Amino acid sequence: MSTQPANDYRSPLARYAASEAVSRGRIYPEPAPACRGEFQRDRDRIIHSAAFRRLEYKTQVFVNHEGDLFRTRLTHSIEVAQIARSIARAMSLNEDLTEAIALAHDLGHTPFGHAGQDALNACMKEHGGFEHNLQSLRVVEELEERYAEFPGLNLSFETREGILKHCSITHARTLGDIGRRFLDKHQPGLEAQLTNLADEIAYNSHDVDDGLRSGLIRIDQLSGVRLFQDQYEEVLGRYPDLPPRRTIHEVVRRIINCQVVDLIRTSSSLLSRANPASIDVVRKQGRSLIGFSNDMQEKHLELKRFLRKNLYRHYRVHRMSAKAARTIRSLFDAFINDSGLLPDETQRQTAVLEERHGTRGKARSVADYIAGMTDRYAISEYQRIYDPGSAS
Ligand code: MG
Repeated sequence: MSTQPANDYRSPLARYAASEAVSRGRIYPEPAPACRGEFQRDRDRIIHSAAFRRLEYKTQVFVNHEGDLFRTRLTHSIEVAQIARSIARAMSLNEDLTEAIALAHDLGHTPFGHAGQDALNACMKEHGGFEHNLQSLRVVEELEERYAEFPGLNLSFETREGILKHCSITHARTLGDIGRRFLDKHQPGLEAQLTNLADEIAYNSHDVDDGLRSGLIRIDQLSGVRLFQDQYEEVLGRYPDLPPRRTIHEVVRRIINCQVVDLIRTSSSLLSRANPASIDVVRKQGRSLIGFSNDMQEKHLELKRFLRKNLYRHYRVHRMSAKAARTIRSLFDAFINDSGLLPDETQRQTAVLEERHGTRGKARSVADYIAGMTDRYAISEYQRIYDPGSAS
């Protein structure tokens, strides 16, 4: 008789899971990989990309040089992958695809987090805008230069579908099959849906941890936030003598766990009611089949609102964001007005896009260059361009 707990193995995929057998494949057909699956290959290509390595030095909330223990985009992406894989495995969904989507989901992020993205979007207003989600797709479809046979990483449709979480109708029209679902108001596969929520679980929880560690938020401020308070009281009741740091970590891990468990239970019952026969039936649903219970959804939003008000808008975060925005704007202005300031290779790419698409192409190339920068590269590039005393 087996003594294994029920979820300690990989059960066969659910019939509504993504699978290689029903994959819509790659843009450039390739021979099947030896000794690994197609979605494993996607995951491996993402890990070996330059954009993935750059995530190590890109801001989540705290700029990289503010402290070694704060989350960066890289550790965030790894935490998202951990949470998303747990959910996928428990629900008999495709774990390899889920991991690939999670590791790639932030590849298009600019330096300096959301402040950087907003600033670059403003610079690109006349040239088609800038959206990090679309940029992630652009990175894996065009910007990575690693393979002789094709541009980008030539990932499977399902991985690209998962990367493109949202998209305006205008952009969707230009994206072919990958943009189709935004026009048809369809859903992506379940692996994409769950990774989206794993992202939210990860950043809500780790931003509480980082916020407390930095001293920008305090435990007493969180007393009205149920997701925190419920767990905090339980931990204090059980372990009244636990030192503060261990208490916080115990609370944060419980915050993650209770959301994950709620998500799995709620989604499993949604799925058993909808009973989709395949991933294509999932795609045609009018709504997502992965979600929290109403109670957890409210608590989740309450924590999000708390973080927005008390952490993301904290004056010290805001100062950093304001500096970041100025840095991005100044770099954009310098390069768009004088592309001779760009490094040789980028100048060549800019000339190609300008020839093809005019000013819009030139601006896109400058945005690609800036979006690809790490926080510290953007800071030193700014000094090299604007500080007369700095080496060029
Ligand atoms: Mg994310």
